[in-house]
Amino acid sequence: MTEHSLTLFNSLTRKAETFAPVHPGEARVYSCGPTVYNYPHIGNMRAYVFADVLGRTLSWKGYALTHVINITDVGHLTDDGDAGEDKMERMAAEKAQSIWDIARHYTQAYWADVKALNIRQPAHWSIATDYVPQMIEWAEKIAPKHCYELDSGLYFDVSTVADYGRLARAHTDEGEGRIEAVEGKRNAADFAIWRKTPPGEKRQMEWDSPWGKGAPGWHLECSVMGGALLGFPFDIHTGGIDHREIHHPNEIAQNQAYCCTNGLDVAENSGARIWMHNNFLVERSGKMSKSSGEFLRLQLLIDKGYHPLAYRMMCLQAHYRSELEFSWEGLGAALTRLKRMLMAAAPLRDVEAASQVDHPKLAGVLDAFDAAISDDLNTPVALTAFEEALAVKKVDAAIKRAVIERMDQVLGFGLLDLSRSDLRIRPKAAQITEAEIDQALARRKAARAEKDFATSDAIRDELAAMGVEVMDGDPLGWDWKLG
Ligand code: AMP
Ligand code: ZN
Repeated sequence: MTEHSLTLFNSLTRKAETFAPVHPGEARVYSCGPTVYNYPHIGNMRAYVFADVLGRTLSWKGYALTHVINITDVGHLTDDGDAGEDKMERMAAEKAQSIWDIARHYTQAYWADVKALNIRQPAHWSIATDYVPQMIEWAEKIAPKHCYELDSGLYFDVSTVADYGRLARAHTDEGEGRIEAVEGKRNAADFAIWRKTPPGEKRQMEWDSPWGKGAPGWHLECSVMGGALLGFPFDIHTGGIDHREIHHPNEIAQNQAYCCTNGLDVAENSGARIWMHNNFLVERSGKMSKSSGEFLRLQLLIDKGYHPLAYRMMCLQAHYRSELEFSWEGLGAALTRLKRMLMAAAPLRDVEAASQVDHPKLAGVLDAFDAAISDDLNTPVALTAFEEALAVKKVDAAIKRAVIERMDQVLGFGLLDLSRSDLRIRPKAAQITEAEIDQALARRKAARAEKDFATSDAIRDELAAMGVEVMDGDPLGWDWKLG
C-alpha cells in the first residue's frame, strides 16, 4: 500500500498542511468537550464524530495517539463571549437540583451517545472542576503582564498579545459586533479568566482565589487542561466552527501569554500547531436548539427507529468542513446505505482475517481509501472506496476480511460485528414486538404456501395497521420495517 502523507486543514493558516508531529511517532490531540448542562444535540455529536475520525486516522497512520476531551462543568456562560449566566448554574436553578447532580446526569448521557456512535474513548476525559487549583496558578502567572482586575473578575487584556483574533480573522476594535457587557473593560474582546462571586451572593460552585471567591472562566479551563495533559505545544486542537471565533482565539491569547516571554508570536505559541474545526449540522425548523422543547438528541433518532450508526454514516457522508443539513429522509438513506454494507459484509462475518492485506485486486481500493482519508479526512470518498472493497469478487475471503477490518478501523462502524437485527430498532411508539411480527409473518408464509391469499392479505393489512410494512422481494432482504 502506498502511504499518502496526511494533510490536515489548519484554521490558523487557512491552509491544508502536511502533518508533522511535535513528538516523533506521536499525535497529541485536544478536543473541546461538552458543557454538561443539558443533553447534547446531534450537532454537538458531529463534533465528536469528527474528532473520532481524526483520532482513528492518526492511529491508521501509525501515530501513538493521546486524545483528551474535556467535560465543562463550570464556567461556560450563556453567551460564548463574556456575558450572561453560567449555563450550569442556570440549569441547576431551573431544575432545583445541585450542579453536581446536573453535571453527573448529563455527562453520563453524553457518554452514552459517545458509545452509541462508536466514538472511541479518549485517553483522558478531563473534568474542568478537577483542575481549578492549576487554573488559579495559571491566572497568577499571567496576571501581572496580561490581566487587570474589575469588581466582577480578573480580565485578560487582548491588546497585550500579538495578533489577537488571527484565528477568527476578526478585528479587535469596537464596532465589530461584540457586545461590551462589562463596564471598565479595556477592549471589547477582553474576557474574564476569573469571575468573582458578587458580594452577598453564594454560588453553588465557587473557590477561593487571590481575587476573592469565584469561578474560572471557560476559556482558561481548556488552556490549562490541554497544557497539563498534553504539554505545549501539542499537535492538534479541535472544536466546532463556532469556537474559531471566540473560544479558541481566547485560548490562544492565554497560551501566548503563558508560553512565551519574548515576541508573543501566535504561530509558535498558540499552544497547538494545528487548529481544526468541524462545520455545523443545521436543521431548518430550529429543532437543534436546546430551548425548542423536543430537540434533536440521539435518543430521539433511536426512539423513531433509526440506529445511531445511521447518524454516524450521515456525518461521514459529508466532509467535516462542509455544512451538513439534517433531514429524516437523509437519515433514512444513510441507514439504507449502512444496511447495504452490512449485507455485503455478511459472507465475511465468520471468516478469520488474514494477517496481511496484500492482494492485487484489493491494492487499488486500499490505496484509494488511504489517499482519501489522508486528504484532510475525506470520508465521503473513503466510504466509496470501502464499498468498492466490499464489492470485490473472487478474492480470498480471509484477505478481504482483513482489508475491510482495516478500513473499518477508520470509519468506525464495527460492521463485521453488527447483525441485521442490531440495525432494526423498534420505534418507541410501535405497538407490536419483533417476535409478534415474526410470528405473523410465519403464519402469512404458511397461508401463501397453501395459496390462501385471503388470509395472507388479511395478515398483511393487520400488520400495516400497526405500522409494520411487509417488504416482499426487498432487494436488501429485509422482510419488514416499522415506520
Ligand atoms: P458545547 O457543549 O456547546 O460547548 O458544544 C460542544 C461542541 O459541539 C463544540 O465543539 C461546538 O462547537 C459543537 N457544536 C455546537 N453546535 C453544533 C452544530 N450544530 N453542529 C456541529 N457542531 C456543533
Ligand atoms: Zn474548549
